[in-house]
Amino acid sequence: MSPVLRIAVPVHLAEVFDYLPPPTWATDCQIPGVRVEVPFGRTRKVGVLLAIVTTSPCAPERLRACLRVLDAAPLFDARHLAFLNWISRYYHHPLGETLAAGMTARLRKGLAPAPSSGSQLRLCSLAVDREVVLTRSPRQAELLQRLRLAPNGLGRDALQALAFAWQPAATALVDKGLAAWQTVVVADEADTVTSLPHPLNEEQAAAVAAVRGGLGQFGVFLLDGVTGSGKTEVYLHLAREVVARQQQVLILLPEISLTPQLEQRFRERLGKRVAVFHSGLADTERDKAWSQACDGTAQVLLGARSAALIPLRQPGLIILDEEHDASYKQQEGLRFSARDAAVMRARQASIPVILGSATPSMESCHNARLGRYRHLHLTQRAGGAVAPRFLRLDIRGQPLREGLSLPLIQCLRENLARGEQSLLFINRRGFAPTCICHGCGWVAGCPHCDARLVTHVREQVFRCHHCGYQQPLRVECPECRGGDLRPLGLGTERMEKVLAGLFGDARLARIDRDSTRSRGSLARILGEIQAGQVDLLVGTQMLAKGHHFPNVTLVAIVDVDASLYSTDFRSAERTAQLITQVAGRAGRADKPGQVILQTRHPDHPLLLELTRHGYAGFMQQALEEREAAGLPPFSCQALFRAEAREAEAAHGFLQRVAAWAQTLPQPRPDILGPVPAPLARRADRHRFQLLLQADQRSRLHHLIRALTPVIASWPETRSLRWSLDIDPVDLY
Ligand code: ADP
Ligand code: ZN
Ligand code: ZN
Repeated sequence: MSPVLRIAVPVHLAEVFDYLPPPTWATDCQIPGVRVEVPFGRTRKVGVLLAIVTTSPCAPERLRACLRVLDAAPLFDARHLAFLNWISRYYHHPLGETLAAGMTARLRKGLAPAPSSGSQLRLCSLAVDREVVLTRSPRQAELLQRLRLAPNGLGRDALQALAFAWQPAATALVDKGLAAWQTVVVADEADTVTSLPHPLNEEQAAAVAAVRGGLGQFGVFLLDGVTGSGKTEVYLHLAREVVARQQQVLILLPEISLTPQLEQRFRERLGKRVAVFHSGLADTERDKAWSQACDGTAQVLLGARSAALIPLRQPGLIILDEEHDASYKQQEGLRFSARDAAVMRARQASIPVILGSATPSMESCHNARLGRYRHLHLTQRAGGAVAPRFLRLDIRGQPLREGLSLPLIQCLRENLARGEQSLLFINRRGFAPTCICHGCGWVAGCPHCDARLVTHVREQVFRCHHCGYQQPLRVECPECRGGDLRPLGLGTERMEKVLAGLFGDARLARIDRDSTRSRGSLARILGEIQAGQVDLLVGTQMLAKGHHFPNVTLVAIVDVDASLYSTDFRSAERTAQLITQVAGRAGRADKPGQVILQTRHPDHPLLLELTRHGYAGFMQQALEEREAAGLPPFSCQALFRAEAREAEAAHGFLQRVAAWAQTLPQPRPDILGPVPAPLARRADRHRFQLLLQADQRSRLHHLIRALTPVIASWPETRSLRWSLDIDPVDLY
C-alpha cells in the first residue's frame, strides 16, 4: 500500500488535498514542510507537504500523483507550520494560501531558496546511495563529483573557485534533489558594528531588565514611551543580548520603506547580520533575506508586516514598534494583523514579544489593564527634550486665508523670523480634495466610484484616489459650460503653494505619497530638513512615521475637525494618535515645540482631555466610552464584505448570510446589516457589508466556522467578490 501525501495547495478552498507520492520518492528526506509540485485541475501548483498518512478519504484510484518534491530540507519546521496553521484557522483563510504568505514570490513559483552567504552546498542522501548518471550535463556531473569529495559541503568561496559557472549546475542538482544548501553559522561579526550604545537612563534600564528577565518564556511587554523617549534604544540593547545568546530577533516596523534612517540605525548598531524584508525590495533581495532568516545566517530580521510570517531558525525575541499603526493589518487576501500574529508566534515559540508605541492601541491598553500584558513606561524624552505645549486655536468666525487663520500665519511668520523650522500637517494629498463650478455648483466626481476627483495641479489631472481613474484638468464646466471652476478644499500641494505666496523667501518641502514616489526622494527631503535647509514643511500622516525633526519648533494641525467628525468609531483613537505622534516629532531640550490645533470645536472632550492630560488621559476616557458602547476591545467583530456590478447581487448575498446566521439559537453574535459600505461604489462595483459582533470570541468563530462551508456551496458566490475580515480595523 502506497503512502498518501497530505498537501496544502494554494487555492481559495478550505480543504487540504491528498496525493500519491511522485515517481522518484525517497522517504528518508521527505518530511513535512517541504514544497511539492502537484497537478491541480489542468494546472500545476506548488503546495506544502503537511503529513504522510496511510489512508485517504478519497478512493485510491482517484488520487493523482505529485509531480516532484522541490526541497531536500523543509522550508517550515513543525513549529512554524503550527503557527501558520493557527493563522489560517483564526482568520478563516485557506491553509495553502496562508503557507504561501510565509514564502517569497520565487518560492511560491517553486524556485529553490536563495543560498545565503553562510550556506554550504551538500550532497543529499539520494545522491550518496545511488549511482546517478548525468552524461548529458557534464557540469552537473563535475559538481556532483566535487561534492562527493567534500563531505562537509562546499561554501560559496569554494564554488566561486571552480573553473565553470557553478550556479546553474548547483540549481539543477538542488532541483533534482541531489544536493541541498545547508547553513553553517559563521563566527560573530561584532567588528561590523559602527555605532555604540547610549548609556541607558533609569526608565530605559528598568524596561530592559524587565524583558531580559522574561527571556526564554512567553510574555507580552507593552513598551509605552513618549516619542523620543528612547524606545529604539531599548530594542537595540535587548536585540544585542539576544543575538549574543545565539538566538534571532524579529523586529517589525510599519512601512519600513518610509523610514530609511531607522533601518540605517539598526544596521549600524547590530552589525552586518541584519536582514531586511519588505515589499519595496527587489525579488532577489527579498529572497536572500528570507533564506538568511530561515537558515539562521541573519541574526536580526527587520521587516514590515509580511516579515511576521517568515520562518526563523532560532527565534529569541519579537519586537513590534509603533504597535498602534493600522498598516499592521493587511487589507486584502490574508487579512491578518501582524501585531496579533506576533503575539501568537511568541506564545508558540515560548519567547517574549515587545509591543512599543508612544500611542498604544486601545486593544493593547485594555490587555495591559487586564494584566495580560506587562506595561512598561518611558515618560521622559531621552537626551533631555521637553514635551511640546498645546494650543487649541478657536477659528470660529475667524477669516481664513486658504485654511490658515491670521494668528497661525502670525506664529509662522515669527518662527521664520527666528530662523526656526515649522511643520504643517494636513491629511490630504493633492492640490484640493475636489473642484467645484462657481456658476452652477457642479462638483467633479469619479465616474466609477461614489467619490470626488482630487485636483492635482502639478500633474494637471483630476484623479480618483480610490480607483486610480484620471482625466486632464478641465477648464470648462461640463454642466453649464461656464469657465469658473475652482478647487474646493485644501491638500498638501495647495498648502505648499499658499505658503509660497505668503512667505516668498521661505524654503519649502512637502512630504506625501506624491512627492516621495521616486526612489531616494524621501531620504533626500529628510536630509534637507535635518541639514536645516528647509523652513516650512508640509505633509500628510507620513510625517508621523518614525522620523524625528529636532529643529522643528512649531507644529500646526491645520484641520483637526475633519478627523474628529468621522463615521468610524475608531476615528477618535486615530485622531488622538495622529496629533500625539505629529506633535512628538518636534522640538528638543533647548528649543521646545509648540503645537497649534486649528479647530471650530475647542471644547471637544477629546481635544480637552488630550491637550490637558495627554494621551493616557484620553485613553482612560476613550476606553470607558468603548466599554459603555460594547465596542472592541470589549467585544470582537468580523466583517463580511461583498461587491458586484449589480447592487442586488452583493446585497442579496449578504442578506442570505445574515438570514442563515439568524437561524442559529441564542446566544449568537449580533448581526448588523447588510448596509452599503461607506464607499458604496468603487471601480463600478457596488459594495455592501455585514458586521458580526459578539462579546465572546469563541461564539463568533463558532458561527463562522459553520458558515464558511455553507457559503462555499452557494452558486452566487461565483459571480461576486466577497471577503471576510476578522478584527477589522477599517470599516471601509
Ligand atoms: P523613540 O524610539 O522612543 O522615539 P529613540 O530611541 O529614537 O526614541 O531616541 C530618541 C533620541 O534620543 C535619539 O536621538 C537617541 O539617540 C537618543 N537617546 C535615546 N536614549 C538615550 C540615552 N539613554 N541617552 C542619550 N540619548 C538617548
Ligand atoms: Zn457649472
Ligand atoms: Zn474612482
